[in-house]
Amino acid sequence: MLPSGVGVRLVGPMSGVSPSRVFVITGPSGVGKGSLISLLRHRIPELELSTSATTRDPRTGEKNGVDYHFLEPSEFDRRVEAGEFLEHAAYSGNQYGTLRSEVEGRIDAGHPVVLEIEVQGARQVAGTMPEAVQIFIAPPALEALKERLEGRGTDSPEAIARRLEVAEEELAARDEFHHQVVNDELERALGELEAIVRGKLSQSEQ
Ligand code: ADP
Ligand code: 5GP
Repeated sequence: MLPSGVGVRLVGPMSGVSPSRVFVITGPSGVGKGSLISLLRHRIPELELSTSATTRDPRTGEKNGVDYHFLEPSEFDRRVEAGEFLEHAAYSGNQYGTLRSEVEGRIDAGHPVVLEIEVQGARQVAGTMPEAVQIFIAPPALEALKERLEGRGTDSPEAIARRLEVAEEELAARDEFHHQVVNDELERALGELEAIVRGKLSQSEQ
């Protein structure tokens, strides 16, 4: 069971998408998903990142339309009702979701797409696009998450505590996904992630 306040809603399948070129990267907050994806995209520039929508407030330096599409809760709900999301979930008091337009447009243009999303959303994508490549990023130990979230300096102590609480549930789900990469040492984990992604891309091109 996920903690209370965490909602899941299943959405319908997408049309016209070649699923093996969609990469879902999931795992707890602070594990290093964003860091790994940013480095991965330097190594594989054709990979495009879906910009998620969220109702949370922008952090210092975050830009609307770049880091996230920052939406008012009423606008997020409206788009949910309009069926605009491939997946969406409540996480730590806010809504997060992947807009279909972020994925469909890129796939239609021939680009592989990476989604950086939490576990409930990754489960939804696994249900609706079972061939999307699912990669769970795990920490070497729970303690490392706390240190990384504190070190990142973007979240209040209360927000970090909430994220760590959810992280325990998320870690229990790690075996649900196709691949697991332990982000112990960044370069090593990056190499492992890169090998998985390159392997799938070369299969999809055959
Ligand atoms: P996420 O996107 O999963 O929330 P981030 O990529 O923001 O995580 O990483 C959280 C923090 O941990 C950042 O300060 C980042 O520099 C640091 N970090 C990422 N990977 C490692 C690693 N392998 N070892 C130590 N610190 C790391
Ligand atoms: P943050 O607030 O740290 O930017 O993100 C919190 C969590 O939400 C992270 O685990 C992040 O991966 C996840 N997240 C970001 N975008 C999405 C999304 O579009 N859908 C879902 N389900 N989770 C997301």
